[in-house]
Amino acid sequence: MRRRGVSGVVKHLNMIRQAKGKTPRRPPPKKPSNTQKDPVGVYCRVRPLGAEDEECCIEVISNTTIQLHAPDGLKANRNGEFKETQYSFKKVFGIKTTQRELFEDVAKPLVEDLIYCKNGLLFTYGVTGSGKTHTMTGSPGQGGLLPRSLDMIFNSIGPYQAKRYVFKPDDKNGMEVQNQVDALLDRQKRDSQTTVPKTPTTRRIDPEFADMISPAEAFKADGVDEDSSYSVFVSYIEIYNNYIYDLLEETPFDPIKPKPPQSKLLREDQNHNMYVAGCTEVEVKSTEEAFEVFWRGQKKRRIANTQLNRESSRSHSVFIIKLTQAPLDADGDNVLQDKNQVNVSQLCLVDLAGSERTSRTRAEGSRLREAGNINQSLMTLRTCIEVLRENQMCGTNKMVPYRDSKVTHLFKNYFDGEGKVRMVVCVNPKADDYEETLLVMRFAEMTQEVEVARPVDRPICGFAAGRRQRNQAFKEELTRRLEDRGGPVTGESPTVLSQLLQSFPSLPASEIAGPNDDVTLPRLIEALEKRHKIRQMMVEEYNKTANMLKSMLQEQDGNFVAKENFISEQRGRLGEKDKMIQNQNNEIDRLEKKSKMLEYKIDILQKTSNIHEEDKRSLQHELDSREQRLQRELSDKRRMESRMQGIVSDTKLKWEKECERRVNAKQLEMQNKLWVKDEKLKQLKAIVTEGKSENRQPQRPSREKDKVPPKRSVSPSPVPTVPPVRPLHRRSHSAGGERWVDHKPTTNVDLDTVMQPNLPNAIKVTAPSEKALSKCDKYVLTHQEVASDGEIQTKLIKGEVFKTRGGGQSVQFTDIETLKQENPASASRKRRSSESGPSHEGERKDGDWTDVETRCSVAVEMRAGSNLGPGYQHHGYPKRRKP
Ligand code: ADP
Ligand code: MG
Repeated sequence: MRRRGVSGVVKHLNMIRQAKGKTPRRPPPKKPSNTQKDPVGVYCRVRPLGAEDEECCIEVISNTTIQLHAPDGLKANRNGEFKETQYSFKKVFGIKTTQRELFEDVAKPLVEDLIYCKNGLLFTYGVTGSGKTHTMTGSPGQGGLLPRSLDMIFNSIGPYQAKRYVFKPDDKNGMEVQNQVDALLDRQKRDSQTTVPKTPTTRRIDPEFADMISPAEAFKADGVDEDSSYSVFVSYIEIYNNYIYDLLEETPFDPIKPKPPQSKLLREDQNHNMYVAGCTEVEVKSTEEAFEVFWRGQKKRRIANTQLNRESSRSHSVFIIKLTQAPLDADGDNVLQDKNQVNVSQLCLVDLAGSERTSRTRAEGSRLREAGNINQSLMTLRTCIEVLRENQMCGTNKMVPYRDSKVTHLFKNYFDGEGKVRMVVCVNPKADDYEETLLVMRFAEMTQEVEVARPVDRPICGFAAGRRQRNQAFKEELTRRLEDRGGPVTGESPTVLSQLLQSFPSLPASEIAGPNDDVTLPRLIEALEKRHKIRQMMVEEYNKTANMLKSMLQEQDGNFVAKENFISEQRGRLGEKDKMIQNQNNEIDRLEKKSKMLEYKIDILQKTSNIHEEDKRSLQHELDSREQRLQRELSDKRRMESRMQGIVSDTKLKWEKECERRVNAKQLEMQNKLWVKDEKLKQLKAIVTEGKSENRQPQRPSREKDKVPPKRSVSPSPVPTVPPVRPLHRRSHSAGGERWVDHKPTTNVDLDTVMQPNLPNAIKVTAPSEKALSKCDKYVLTHQEVASDGEIQTKLIKGEVFKTRGGGQSVQFTDIETLKQENPASASRKRRSSESGPSHEGERKDGDWTDVETRCSVAVEMRAGSNLGPGYQHHGYPKRRKP
């Protein structure tokens, strides 16, 4: 109780001191969740070539790349094909790399993580003899990653370690906290049980692991939480033939009948982490102690391998370092008695079995089977890595077959949960290993692509920082005070109080010499009064100091409250900001979604518009072609129209001319008729006037009838005796005699008779032409027709050509001869009808003549320069007998 009273004051003093002194480690910013991932860190270590080996197949190109060369023998086997392959890693360590360098790059970050409550897995992979064990364990003077890790851990947490048995494994992969008394009792119990004392003072260092690390090479983590208490527990297991053996289990050793080691099972704890059930976890307090435990396990492993004739290269060794930490209580004196505040992190150091496919030594029977199993577990590891990679790269959710082997099952925590995973690929550059090394490289490449969730920072406990320091300060102050009580105060800065204490007068000798001694008592009284006075002063001083302290404390409390208020206010603001961010994120999400939708819509519209555009184009095309066609048709129509118009006007003109010509012909005919009638009238008049004296008849027709044979009337142009009354201008006869136009229409039939008119020097025409008429003065038309008896009769219609006044040609018909072929049967009748004997009546003869005259009074008149069609009209009047 007294102590507490003093401690309270010291605590406050500490607080004041601390305010201007060291600031506590700032907790790292809290992450919302472990969505961040890191790839498995794959490192490559190339060991030096052995003395017996000659050919080197690996070359370190850079500090991240190595190159493999196929050995000569292999090259020859493959038709001299020169094969070089390069592989890249996070880092490559060449043959000159020291264990320290390797540790610094590969394991140090994992140890730091361990101290900051994060899990880690580190394993070595490679063929037997490639340097896995050398890398992981090392040798005296060349400590590997394992001893160096332990060393760094203890260097870092050394002063903050909890007392032994304060943390106690709960056999369910968890840790319990015990109070100091229980821990002390446990310690005493163990000390009494164990035959061999386990205290560090009595420990004898095994020469096998002596000098693993020189003190100069020591590493230390920064920023270790001083307000926590730490404990380290180690386990060491071996997985052989897919069985788990606890290498730290203490079993009484029976040299006569050695008990086969019992295999352990894997279990899952409440946090879904895998652990070896019932596995020994040894609490170690120093690097040496931890080494000792490790070496104990190592020895046991060696013994078991020898006894059971096993090959150590085929077993996987797993060394687990568990770091337990819990915050100190508010006083900074004890570990907080709260299991929930206990944090356990672990670093798993694994030396895998040789990765070669077959045993280097001869494998027979059960050994071969074992080899198969060992290979099986590495195969499972490869499969797991492959599936993990595939799942992560392709977003698939294939089941990872962790359970297929103990090693992978134990690793499940790391790959599925969170933590840092690192692998050191060990390679021996010798030619014999080349093919196996290729496989190792492939596995390493694949492993680098697997990602593991980054471990999150643990939340820190709610106590104020600097508790341990304050507690220590308090203890120091206490001891100082206790010391002060004994002797004179030796402080360099004496307070008022100490000054007063110093000036406290010592009591004078109070022995009264006699009854009359009146010196002693008054002196005593004086001294006592002086003392009383000083005491009062001291009380005053004390009260003053106490009041001052009180006011200071109050002030501090006020400050503290203000700070707390400020913090809560800031928290509130932070919350608001968080909310705002959340809202903005939501808004962003919404907008993104909207924009995506709009993009989609735009896409669709674009497509639709494209389709329409296409339609439009095709329609336009069609329209164009149709317009063209229309245009063409229109122009065709127009052309046709103009042609038709031409034809119509042509025809019209032709017919107009034709009509005119016909009218002219008719007029001429009528004139001729008129003229003939006039002539007849004149003749008649003459006859009437002359007939009184001589009653004569014209002779010509009879004479002609006499001359001409009855059957034929071929007479070349009998000049009519009766000249035209109104003679037209007659053409002068040329020296060669008369010139005839012999008109024979093409429709005529060639009768093949000898009685053909002989017209020398005649112009033969099929239709009368002005040209021909202008050259001749006689015209004959050969006309055929069917007579009443059915025979063809040919008529020769003759006429004379006159020039008309208009410059054209006119024919005046003067004679008709009829030619007829007769059947002998009808000859008499015909002859009779055609014969005109002298006995015939004059009236009749006259009639015939008149008739001929009448019939021949048809004229053809053509105008000079006329280019019209045939200007002649043939009037074939049937021969009629006058009544
Ligand atoms: P593994 O465990 O892979 O079978 P070891 O670690 O036992 O191989 O190594 C085999 C031999 O090679 C050991 O004698 C070891 O000392 C030696 N060795 C391995 N790596 C190296 C290295 N980096 N430097 C020197 N010697 C090495
Ligand atoms: Mg080994």
